[in-house]
Amino acid sequence: MSAFDYSFDMENYMTKERFAAFKKFAQDKETPFLVTSLSVVANKYDELKKSMPYADVYYAVKANPTEEILKLLRDRGSYFDVASIYELDLILGLGVSPNRLSYGNTIKKARDIRYFYEKGVRLFVSDSESDVRKLAENAPGSDIFFRILADGLGADWPLSRKFGAQPDVIFENILLAKELGLNPRGVSFHVGSQQMDITQWRSALKTCREIFDAAKARGITLDLLNMGGGFPAHYMHAIKDTYVYAAEITDFIREFFGEQFPHIIIEPGRYMSGDAGILVTEIVMLSSKELESGIPWVYVDAGKFGGLIETLDECIRYPIYSEREGEANDYVIAGPTCDSFDVLYEKIPYRLPSNMEEGDRLYFLTAGAYTQTYCSIFFNGFPPLRSYVID
Ligand SMILES: *Cc1c(COP(=O)(O)O)cnc(C)c1O
Repeated sequence: MSAFDYSFDMENYMTKERFAAFKKFAQDKETPFLVTSLSVVANKYDELKKSMPYADVYYAVKANPTEEILKLLRDRGSYFDVASIYELDLILGLGVSPNRLSYGNTIKKARDIRYFYEKGVRLFVSDSESDVRKLAENAPGSDIFFRILADGLGADWPLSRKFGAQPDVIFENILLAKELGLNPRGVSFHVGSQQMDITQWRSALKTCREIFDAAKARGITLDLLNMGGGFPAHYMHAIKDTYVYAAEITDFIREFFGEQFPHIIIEPGRYMSGDAGILVTEIVMLSSKELESGIPWVYVDAGKFGGLIETLDECIRYPIYSEREGEANDYVIAGPTCDSFDVLYEKIPYRLPSNMEEGDRLYFLTAGAYTQTYCSIFFNGFPPLRSYVID
């Protein structure tokens, strides 16, 4: 496969003015660091609400839990998908009421369920009998939605088989939940993160309809559909516009549920914060491993342990911008640590300007999701990625 070309059009990602403002802010800061733009997050939220006005947006806090982002979304009326007692404390500390939260992690300790319940949360996910029993005991009477397996096909960052269960297992758990005094509300799924194939929502919705019908036949009326995350951010590959995703998904809901939509939840993470971030690195070293043949290497000061873990298997391809112009060459890109796993792109190298020099900055665009919180805290002594917020 050929290398990715550095000479993408910056204006596909942001206006000249915005990049200029960002550069001014970034110029005297020591690399590596992440800068997240709040106005980009605000626009993303507004665009999604406009495209799917019927849906409650539960921001997946894990994607980027920067306090300013959480406050902004709080003030816009967002709900939040929370995965641990620590995220819960963070959100409650910002004055968000517990009825705007769901405990969306299928893997939980009994005492953590109890903690959520005592703090006032009444909406939980589940995908196993063991968890339903823990919920019945520690969060009695709560609303539960049940997560079905989705295969993650078509997603650049699939979520594998870790979460969810087959429909027949889910059905049994719905009956059990009812029997144990919980309130089975509905079904959830996650089609896989950075999902490029919109028809994945259709097959999941079809299964949801079947479960709604099966429950109905046993006297249980479900009225909640949680369609999870999966909405893409703008990496190297072009993506369809938000309204295209929204329109197609809305059609699929109509196909299976008619005009009377159930209560609908979406849980965007990557979509909301991805495009808002720029990770600024500096070139530490340029080198060649062979005298004549071979691809040169560029080592930057942030790598797999410094926020760029989603380059694993080269799944997520960040647009990488150099301010140099002119002739381009293929480069392998690697991080600064002493672990051989800390290589970002080698199978498919990047095309970057061949007049780059050590000390130059390389800008990783669309780095606002799953970066800062994914970095190690002290490997080789490197501190965690610094993070700033701008308007
Ligand atoms: C991580 C996660 C999300 C967010 O997924 P994105 O693909 O980033 O939008 C949504 N829901 C749940 C339950 C998650 O675990």
